[in-house]
Amino acid sequence: MSVAIETGSGTFESLNPATGEVLAEHPVHDETAVRAAVERARAAAVWWGSLGWRERRLRLLNVKGALTRDLGRLAELIHQETGKPVSDAILEVAATVTHLDWAARHAQKVLGPRGVYPGVVALHQKCTLEYHPLGVVGVIGPWNYPLFTPMGSIAYALAAGNAVVFKPSEYTPGVGTLLAEIFETVVPEQPVLQVVTGLGPTGAALASSDVYKIAFTGSTATAKKVMAACAENLTPIVAECGGKDAFLVDADADLDAAASAAVWGAMSNAGQTCVGVERVYVVEDVYDAFIGKLTERAEALRAGAGAEASYGPITMPRQLDVIERHIKDALDKGGTAVVGGPESVRRPYVDPVVLTNVPEDSTAVSEETFGPTVTVTKVKDLDEAVVKANATSYGLAAAVFAGSRSRAMDVSRRLRSGMTSINAVIAFASIPGLPFGGVGESGFGRIHGADGLREFARAKAITRQRFNPPIDLTSFARGDKEMRRLTRVVTFLHGRRYGR
Ligand code: NAD
Repeated sequence: MSVAIETGSGTFESLNPATGEVLAEHPVHDETAVRAAVERARAAAVWWGSLGWRERRLRLLNVKGALTRDLGRLAELIHQETGKPVSDAILEVAATVTHLDWAARHAQKVLGPRGVYPGVVALHQKCTLEYHPLGVVGVIGPWNYPLFTPMGSIAYALAAGNAVVFKPSEYTPGVGTLLAEIFETVVPEQPVLQVVTGLGPTGAALASSDVYKIAFTGSTATAKKVMAACAENLTPIVAECGGKDAFLVDADADLDAAASAAVWGAMSNAGQTCVGVERVYVVEDVYDAFIGKLTERAEALRAGAGAEASYGPITMPRQLDVIERHIKDALDKGGTAVVGGPESVRRPYVDPVVLTNVPEDSTAVSEETFGPTVTVTKVKDLDEAVVKANATSYGLAAAVFAGSRSRAMDVSRRLRSGMTSINAVIAFASIPGLPFGGVGESGFGRIHGADGLREFARAKAITRQRFNPPIDLTSFARGDKEMRRLTRVVTFLHGRRYGR
């Protein structure tokens, strides 16, 4: 079964991954079409930027209202294109509008002009810092959260005053198109948000076009290609890539809460979550008790298409091969499947798989699986868990379950990841004020929060001379007298020795 098929006549089909049914045909936008969209966006960006903070905020809040009123239609389309349960799709729309609301309301406060203290030597200057829009931002999105994930960039880029050209995943072109249609009902004057559809080459055309920034979300392998294309024009990028997130359980953790969170983090959306739980490290004192609770919860889940299913199919057919390979590698290397096993892969579905005693060099531990599977490993203490959790080239997010607040905070700080939830899982993603992004092979740059707004703006520094300085140092007229005075002032200000 294929989910995105190029028809050979300038269009491609999007399919329902559960049934194989053709949902719609979408245009393949080629390089010329992408460049034309970027050109239109350039004019739209001037208009959008000139509206000012209040007008943009009002319009974005109205876009939020329109998306919310269309929640049912959006959720149904997300369900059809990805296969995820409608209830999960509703959650996705709800989280999206929460972020749009935050971005709209906070843009001026975060990016608007503010005064900066010039320092004693430059007291004659009055300094202003403000953040200007970049112009046109290209957003390339994945399919696993086809609305929430790209909107993590789109909403913040728009709130910062940019126009956006969005290339949705070829698996979810309908969601991207519907988003742009709803946006246009609120902002009909100019094409401030446009969608270009197609497969990889359409994304590549956007990456090498005349945009001022690319916000890419997808696999690490594709991010490297996008970055190489962007290097040609020195176009900066934000890269939100894959992960291999760890989940740590301490001896004094609430084991019921930890098991429920781990199973949700690993299995919801069929494990197709960049910040999903892929590895669990449990302190030995509570290992057996935790495994008991985790297996009980995992065994109760069912993959399927109906309303009663816990989660849907694997959206991208070739991912089934990766999942199968990782399960096999874990078992070949001496691991045990305590829930499910190779037979859990029933294309296009995968039932829950819990693997134990898997060596750390197995691909099930070292590579992103992106399926409803999880490895559980016994550790002596949380220190060992941190070392193992950090022994990955990825660094997206993590979770820590512990009774001691200070211990959990300490461990969270030592985890090499962009985000960590304590006594919860994936909680950071729903909090718009918190920045989201990874380190290492998980990418760089931040979406969400104040950092996410600044990601789509350029700092503009302005300083105005209010009166002539007592010592004019930037003049060919300066002499020995001025230099002696400067030396005295600098020595007074900075020449002292500092004690504790
Ligand atoms: P992908 O890399 O296959 O595709 C992502 C997007 O890139 C698609 O729109 C695709 O058409 C486009 N693309 C493909 N080739 C391109 C090229 N040469 N130039 C430009 N664009 C190109 O990823 P995917 O399968 O859609 O998404 C799953 C991956 O995304 C997983 O690794 C997941 O962890 C990651 N992800 C990360 C985050 C995050 O925020 N860090 C969020 C969601 C998903």
